[in-house]
Amino acid sequence: MTAPQCPMCKRPAEADYKPFCSRRCADLDLQKWLTGAYAIPAAEDDDGDGESPALADPGED
Ligand SMILES: [Zn+2]
Repeated sequence: MTAPQCPMCKRPAEADYKPFCSRRCADLDLQKWLTGAYAIPAAEDDDGDGESPALADPGED
């Protein structure tokens, strides 16, 4: 039978931290998740070509 491997470092997973081998790897994966979730709206905000927002309207005072 095959022991489950830690997805972070490929070491044998520990029952306490399944599917990871240690708390550190579990934390690393969680951080990856969080940063990935935040990176999506941030990248969208950075992309500004396609349509011009009303703010870019030339002076109509
Ligand atoms: Zn690991």
